Amino acid sequence: MADPTGKVVAITGAARGIGLATATAFQAAGAKVVIGDIDEPAAKRAGETMNGPALPVDVTDRESFTAFLDGAEAELGPIDVLVNNAGIMPIGPLLEEDDALADRCIDINVRGVILGTKLGLARMVPRGHGHIVNIASVAGVMPAAGMATYNASKHAVVGFTEAVRLEFARQGIEVSAVLPTFTNTELIAGTKSARGQRNAEPEEVAAAVIGLVTKPRPQVVVPAKLGRQLRIGPLMSRG
Ligand code: NAD
Repeated sequence: MADPTGKVVAITGAARGIGLATATAFQAAGAKVVIGDIDEPAAKRAGETMNGPALPVDVTDRESFTAFLDGAEAELGPIDVLVNNAGIMPIGPLLEEDDALADRCIDINVRGVILGTKLGLARMVPRGHGHIVNIASVAGVMPAAGMATYNASKHAVVGFTEAVRLEFARQGIEVSAVLPTFTNTELIAGTKSARGQRNAEPEEVAAAVIGLVTKPRPQVVVPAKLGRQLRIGPLMSRG
């Protein structure tokens, strides 16, 4: 899709952070955007600020996710872009991690992305076009101490996304992953990258999402050197 003008974009976890920045950027680029979030009051506030629709969604629940996509299409028309952005990040020593929180992380970050991708594809494949963007993380290719379950979840998103991209590549559907570094949102609440780099701003991640949607390229993009270290094949290794 060269031009997002008039395109319908649905974004989960868009009440704040990277999701809200992405929603704002798509709207500024002329797209029609629907915000989805489990935090209904925050979603409503974001919708009011953007003067656009905001709907509740729990990405771990098929009925809720379906109602979100139905509602989005009723408000704005067929979805051209679905951004599976909702996520949580448990941080801390693995042996102190609450099992329920670990399960919730996998539920939202992995099962939510798988569910969203399937529900999005079910609408896009019969139309022969559409783009699904899964927000993974650099933690999906570079593990870091103190967030093992989160690392596992994002590795799953990267692998899943690449596999789905290959499966649907000939059906006019783009499936991409974006791998942000530490980004200044409530999710990390002041945590700094252990690698000593500056944190990104949500708007920078939003620009990457728009760039990916408007200029499709190999969908899991990692620096070539890192790709070689990780033995990632040429399709996934660029830069
Ligand atoms: P955030 O906490 O600011 O926003 C996440 C949003 O997701 C919240 O509004 C929350 O209510 C919503 N959400 C949580 N569970 C949900 C559910 N079950 N259904 C629907 N919505 C739900 O986080 P963020 O930093 O903007 O992160 C967005 C995405 O980017 C996540 O997938 C995260 O893992 C990824 N990411 C973030 C960073 C970072 O450093 N902030 C880095 C790499 C990747």
